[in-house]
Amino acid sequence: MTRKRIYEIAKEFGITSKELIGKLAEMGMPGLKAANSVDEEEYGLITNLYQEETAPQSDVIAEEIEGLSVGKPEEGEKVDHRPSRPPIVSVLGHIDHGKTTLLDAIRHSHVTAKEVGGITQGVAAYQAKLGEQRITFIDTPGHKAFTGMRARGAKATDIAILVVAADDGIMEQTMEAIDHIHAAGIPMIVAINKIDKPNADIDKVMNDLTKHGLTPEVWGGDTITVSISALKEENIDDLLEMILLVAEMENLRADPAGTLEAVIIESHLAKGRGPVATAIVKNGTLREKDIIVAGSTWGRVRAMSDDTGARVHQAGPGEAVEILGLQDVPHVGTMIDVVKAQSDAKAAAAKQKKQEAAPRRSRAKMSVEDLFREAMEAEKLRLVLKASSTGALEAAKREIKEIDVEKIKVDFIHTGVGPISEGDVLLASSIAEECVVVGFGVRADGKTSKLAERDGVVILTYDIIYELLAEIERALKSMLAPEYEEVRMGEVEVREVFKIPDGVVAGCYVTDGKIERKAKVRVLREDKELFTGEILSLHRFTEDVREVQNGRECGIRIKDFNDIQSGDRLSIFTLKEIER
Ligand code: GDP
Repeated sequence: MTRKRIYEIAKEFGITSKELIGKLAEMGMPGLKAANSVDEEEYGLITNLYQEETAPQSDVIAEEIEGLSVGKPEEGEKVDHRPSRPPIVSVLGHIDHGKTTLLDAIRHSHVTAKEVGGITQGVAAYQAKLGEQRITFIDTPGHKAFTGMRARGAKATDIAILVVAADDGIMEQTMEAIDHIHAAGIPMIVAINKIDKPNADIDKVMNDLTKHGLTPEVWGGDTITVSISALKEENIDDLLEMILLVAEMENLRADPAGTLEAVIIESHLAKGRGPVATAIVKNGTLREKDIIVAGSTWGRVRAMSDDTGARVHQAGPGEAVEILGLQDVPHVGTMIDVVKAQSDAKAAAAKQKKQEAAPRRSRAKMSVEDLFREAMEAEKLRLVLKASSTGALEAAKREIKEIDVEKIKVDFIHTGVGPISEGDVLLASSIAEECVVVGFGVRADGKTSKLAERDGVVILTYDIIYELLAEIERALKSMLAPEYEEVRMGEVEVREVFKIPDGVVAGCYVTDGKIERKAKVRVLREDKELFTGEILSLHRFTEDVREVQNGRECGIRIKDFNDIQSGDRLSIFTLKEIER
């Protein structure tokens, strides 16, 4: 027997992959994923277990097995009764690697054309079916669109498909896409495409993936890969099956009767129809005539149509619909809320509009030093780094990594060669924490700068790496509390101690150097340090003085210290700030 995958075995025993994985973890095989496989012996063990479970048991064994069963919730664990919903999937990858062809292939092979309309409408998403299960595909491929949908904090996509052409391997935009997917924190499936081509080299792609920290699970890693030909529509089922598996692991659930959660994934102004927006419902149900707020705009849903262009009256979880009736074109990535009254909708939209009018953060007044100081306080410097060449990029990365700044970790959200793009800005702004875009020898064009301004993303450009390093160093210096070193000033011997109503006065003799009223003092008794502190008063005879020179007598009171004895020595010093 060849190796069997977890999900195949789960299917065999009529349980979910999640249940099986949990069970295997208890049996001492932790960390398995649905796409992982087991050998013959392990398969035998699993078979035994499940055959035992389904066979009639004595009460005792049945109880034992009950205790083991991970399918049942633990006591106190909340059961999620909501039905599962279709996963929402985005396709990313380098140009010409076959994103559009793949989306077309899935649409062609797995979307049943409805009688009305046919599949003619250019709606920004569609639902594919595999058996009885559905998957929602966002039909705008690419990482710019992907991150654009996230830039406002909405989470449109559940799973990302990274398309890599087998005749080309990992390219610049593949790497960008990987970083965008990582930043989104969602699972990824790699579709190795164009395997029909004579020069297709799947091993090379897998090798490339491994080099980028994405070791394929067939090579012992945990990156799921599926080899396909989008053009020839080969292995599309496998890909869809894998998507459903990952979705099962993600446990995507939604309540059609719950609060509406829907995200705008596309919007435009259509001649004769007014603002048109496509939304994907993630929870609840959107209905015709609903009064909705979408960021700074609002409206009453006048009409809705599904991905086939057919008119629908409602849309539930996982469904994408085109909406007519909004007053204005909403931004992509905006969440939709349903409200009761038109007046509420108007007020909410107006409030949002006002907020949008003000820049997200007032960066104009902020110096670069302030910015880095913020990062330092967070102990993390998040950067999107772009450079003019691979060499420059590598050098910059190396130097920045070596920045010796206390406790600060540099986190490269994305690095790449080429000008600063809108995608870079979107990526930086989609991250909840502060993220700065840095360019070496590269700039941002006008459109990108405008976007950065709107979203409050700081772009810093330098021609040489040392300019940035100097900037960081300056910020560091201004931030760290100054450090001091002691500078010895003199030494004093205590010859007599006089009690006064509120303390003691030490009658002293300066044996070395001098003593200043503003200096610090350390009390030494038989070479042991007793106290370090400040001088409260210094006088000669009855007069307060600023300093007393070597060979003279004086009276000293020490702040917060009265346990002075004759024979003690006082070491006098000042503090000097250390230059860094
Ligand atoms: P995108 O830029 O990633 O959307 O790439 P496209 O889907 O536009 O595909 C780019 C080119 O690759 C087109 O000429 C496609 O016909 C071709 N292509 C896409 N998938 C395959 C495939 O599986 N096999 C072959 N031989 N060509 C493909």
